[in-house]
Amino acid sequence: MPQNFNDTVLQACDIKKLKLARNPLAVFGKPIAHSQSPKMQNAALEFLSKGNVDFANWQYYKFEVAPDALCKVLPDFFAANFRGINLTIPHKQVIFDCAKTCAIEFDDFSKMAGACNTLIHLKSGWRGTNTDGFGLARAILNFSKRSFKGADVAILGAGGAARAAAFKAFLDGAKSVRICNRTSARLEELLAALGKFGFSGTPFFKESEILPNSIIINATSVGLRAIDAPVLDFSKVEKNCVFFDMPYISSDETKSVKSARAAGLAAASGLAMLAWQGALSLSYWTGADVEVLGNVMCKSLGVEIK
Ligand code: NAP
Repeated sequence: MPQNFNDTVLQACDIKKLKLARNPLAVFGKPIAHSQSPKMQNAALEFLSKGNVDFANWQYYKFEVAPDALCKVLPDFFAANFRGINLTIPHKQVIFDCAKTCAIEFDDFSKMAGACNTLIHLKSGWRGTNTDGFGLARAILNFSKRSFKGADVAILGAGGAARAAAFKAFLDGAKSVRICNRTSARLEELLAALGKFGFSGTPFFKESEILPNSIIINATSVGLRAIDAPVLDFSKVEKNCVFFDMPYISSDETKSVKSARAAGLAAASGLAMLAWQGALSLSYWTGADVEVLGNVMCKSLGVEIK
């Protein structure tokens, strides 16, 4: 393996000067220092290199990229032979503006979700997709053995992550999707976006409106700050519901996950989603099996595989 770059933040403006692996991959964000993607992606590449030495020439880097620089730097990364790029805050929406100046073709799910987190290098240019929906569904399956098919789903939040979750739930055949958000205008916007594709979400406002047996998803940023309280009063939620907390900290037990478990619900944090969305991206870039990659990435992040 080349030198380990897991903790090194590279600057996009230096791309023409850097000496990188023959098949480079990257995540773009700002801030980006905290990103755990290089750790799990390089663990998976190292695993692949044991079966195929060609993967010893692959390496995943993290680049700090300002939102107003994204469209400008993409052609340089294409020319530098980057096989793929992950996009995180604040680039998942900004990337759609780059289609005016770069060759990018977005797939249907990224267009529906209004967010793109993965670019794939094709001969003709980049292909933009979104692996967050898969990551969410696969992470929920891992801890609860539940899928969206036929399920009642309750989503907290109406931002980018909630939108991807709502579309994924409907596309996978959810029976109902209820959505609750602090700001009603944003909730209405999400319901309207779903409606444009023929999906009918239902607003809800309190715990008692969550149906028994629901898959509950926290897609707000509540839980990231030390002062945050659990996102719901789980004593008011039926115990046969399961709870998935998209925000994640270094351990699996966020404050909301702890509170849900204390109330008797099966629960897990977004760490597993991070692993599974990354696994699908790497599978697109390398052709390797997503289940194999996901298991290696979960292990590298300390996520229990069930
Ligand atoms: P976003 O677009 O900024 O949306 C944030 C959402 O959180 C909005 O619905 C917002 O409500 C709500 N919110 C923020 N502070 C709140 C508070 N104090 N009380 C109630 N609601 C509050 O962010 P996003 O991209 O959707 O991301 C949401 C979360 O998902 C983040 O924590 C992110 O880290 C996590 N995420 C995790 C993964 C993963 O792989 N695990 C992937 C994607 C996202 P308003 O509309 O009222 O402002």
